Amino acid sequence: MSFCRSCGRAVENEFVFCPWCGVERFSSAANTAKNRESGGVQEPLSNALSQELIDEVFIQLEEKQSSNRNKRVRVMESKLEALEKELDTLALIAETHECQQKHKSDD
Ligand SMILES: [Zn+2]
Repeated sequence: MSFCRSCGRAVENEFVFCPWCGVERFSSAANTAKNRESGGVQEPLSNALSQELIDEVFIQLEEKQSSNRNKRVRVMESKLEALEKELDTLALIAETHECQQKHKSDD
């Protein structure tokens, strides 16, 4: 898995064209487009650098997403725990209620 130089999304290594933005990955098309945007002053070195930056941003984004997911899971877990406790209490109440009724009918 690598990342598109033009849009920065994950693209399979064997893909010649980026499925997201359609840029040809193994030509300088992406660079030319970028050069046009930045006024034509972009060296191969800074391209590699920006690729590294994109990778880093992606990793950070993924970490953020997974930590958000973890947070949500934790919230759901605590909610579930609260529900379970509530259920336990309800079951207990039902049990004692049943017992009381039994005692009443025993009398
Ligand atoms: Zn792309």
